[in-house]
Formats: sequence, C-alpha cells, structure tokens
Amino acid sequence: MTKNVVIVGGGLVGSALALELARRGVPVTVLEKAVPGAEASSAAAGILAPRVEAHGHPEQRALGLEALAGWQEWAASLGDDVGFARCGVLVARDESPDPDAELLEGRALAERAPGLGAERAWWIAEEGVVDTRVLVSAVHAAAARAGAVFRSGLTVESVDAGGVVAGGARLAGTPVVCAGAWTSVVPGIANLPVSPVRGQLVAVGATGAVRSVVFGPAGYLVPRRDETVLGATMENVGFARGTTAQGLRDVLDAALRLCPSLGAAPVLRQWSSFRPGSPDGRPIIGEVGGVMVASGHSRNGILLAPLTASRVADALLARRPLPPAWSPARFSPAG
Ligand SMILES: Cc1cc2nc3c(=O)[nH]c(=O)nc-3n(C[C@H](O)[C@H](O)[C@H](O)COP(=O)(O)OP(=O)(O)OC[C@H]3O[C@@H](n4cnc5c(N)ncnc54)[C@H](O)[C@@H]3O)c2cc1C
Repeated sequence: MTKNVVIVGGGLVGSALALELARRGVPVTVLEKAVPGAEASSAAAGILAPRVEAHGHPEQRALGLEALAGWQEWAASLGDDVGFARCGVLVARDESPDPDAELLEGRALAERAPGLGAERAWWIAEEGVVDTRVLVSAVHAAAARAGAVFRSGLTVESVDAGGVVAGGARLAGTPVVCAGAWTSVVPGIANLPVSPVRGQLVAVGATGAVRSVVFGPAGYLVPRRDETVLGATMENVGFARGTTAQGLRDVLDAALRLCPSLGAAPVLRQWSSFRPGSPDGRPIIGEVGGVMVASGHSRNGILLAPLTASRVADALLARRPLPPAWSPARFSPAG
C-alpha cells in the first residue's frame, strides 16, 4: 500500500484519480491552482468516440474501447446525471473511419440525421457523449464524499519523488501530476512534450437536426438535451485565452456545411480552452524522473479519464504495468 497521494491538478483526470484512490482507501489530496474542472475538462465537447479517434493505432483503439465499455457504469456510480448517452456517431468523410463503421446513404441517412447536408456518412452505433458542463463537479463531489481532500486556489510550485511544494509549504506524499496543458511547466517535470492546443467551440440552440454526434472533414456537431455544440479549432497559440473571429468563422463554416439548417439556430455561447496536446495525440502516463505523470490526453481526455484513473491506481498500488502505448519513454532518445 502506498502512503498518501498528492495530485497536482483538479481537472477530470486528477479528480477521477482522486475518486478511484479514495474508493480504494488511499488518503488523497488534490491541489488545484484555480477551480477543479474549470479548464479543459468542463470546456470539452464530451464526445466518447474511441473508434473515430484511434486514427488506425490498434493499441490506442483497444484502450479507448476498454474505456468506453466502462463508462456507463462509472457514470452511474457518480450519483448525479452527467448526460451519458450512447447516441452513436456519424462520420461524413470519404474514408471509412473504422472497420465497425456502416455506410449510410439516401433514406437510411435521412432517417438517422434529417438535417445533414452530406449524401453519405459512416455510422457507428456504440459511440457516445457526456455533458461536460456537469461532469467534473459530479466527479469532484463523488471523490470528496469518498474522502478525497480538494484544495483550490493553490499552485504547485515544485514537485519531486517525495512530495510537492505549494503556497511555500511542503506536502509529503506520492505525487501524481495531472496538470493538463500546464504539465510541462510544472517545475520538476523536465522535458515532457505536452503543449496547449487551443480549441474554440460554439453552442447553438437545439434544433433536433442531429441526434447523434456528427464528424465532418473539418469539425463536429454534438447534440445535448438543450443545445448543440459546434467544434472545434486546433490551434498552437500557447496559452492565449479566448475566441477569435477567424476561429469562430472556421467552426461555424464547418458546422453549417455539415448541417445547413443550423444556420437559423440562436447562438447561445462561445468559449475556448487548452487541450493537453502530445506529439502523437496519445496520453503520456508513467514515471518521469521518479514522479508519476498522467497527462497529454489531447482530444480524448474525457473518454480516457476513468480508465486512466484505474490504470494509474493499479500502477501505484499493485505495481501493474501501465499501457506501453501511453509510456513517456516513447519520447526519450532510447525509447
Ligand atoms: C475544445 C476542446 C474540446 C474537447 N473535446 C473533447 C471530447 O469531445 N472528448 C474528449 O474525450 N476530450 C475532449 N477534449 C479533451 C479533454 O478536455 C482533455 O483531454 C481533458 O479534459 C484533460 O483533462 P486534464 O484533467 O488533464 O486537464 P484540465 O481539465 O485542463 O485540468 C488540469 C488542471 O490542472 C491545474 N493545474 C495546472 N498546473 C497546476 C499547478 N502547478 N498547480 C495546481 N494546479 C495546476 C489546472 O488549473 C487545471 O484545472 C477537448 C478539449 C478541448 C479544449
């Protein structure tokens, strides 16, 4: 049994890990520089699409499918409705996104998505969605009920194998860095290739035009009960916050090409946040200089957070090896 664990970062990855460890009886404290969940995790579109997002990498696809398979039970265990739904995914692109995808055309496609502009699209029934507006607060509350301690407004200033320094005070314990896009700027975490990838999103009033997630060549649509989310840019602009005229234009152009009838929908909100990008889009999870890191989830941190939590807890408590596809060693010269 490990001693107490100190988690750096209270996004979905850190909060899900806190929940997992607290449920396993491990004393755990989460240090969050702002408000738990206020960054990428509550901004995300909430698509759970392991097949579409695997981009042909077999181990990443298998891990994504494992994550999705556990999602419904995990969501139910939180005690709050987080809008989990297996709404399916349509991919309006020429190439099949995955061997499980079925080609829909004509009437079959019109029945599935009456407002779609495309004449053909690939259908995957099992993929899903979750409402990130409520997800992290539900995980945070469940973790706190299980005994995890959250300390907000506290920036971790340095980290080493024996603990962290935050607010000028040392906190001893086994650290796990879950600092999202900020991971590589946490002092003590050297040379990790995690960088911010800004994404801009727009929410419009729900029209019923799409009932499943729709991916196009340059964007996607995500149905929620009360709105449709249109996304998203992928921009390397450092930590520049906010939306831009060009970014919103790109998001709206891509969305309206996919579903022209959305042009009449009222705009409700626009926002942006920073994905924790990794060079190959896969998470970076494992020990770096003696410190456990769980970051770099890129476009799939919502999908992969529960699986990340259980795999990191297994590694900390039972020395179970972490997935090689996520190893930080793949970026070291010998790796
Ligand atoms: C526009 C957009 C759309 C997305 N859509 C999807 C999607 O549809 N499906 C999907 O699966 N994923 C999606 N993602 C990706 C997903 O949001 C991320 O991969 C995931 O939220 C990462 O979680 P995290 O906890 O690592 O990061 P975050 O949620 O960013 O949390 C990291 C936390 O660490 C804190 N922190 C950083 N440094 C310190 C420090 N020194 N001390 C204390 N605290 C610190 C930060 O304040 C922050 O709260 C999307 C992301 C974006 C931006």
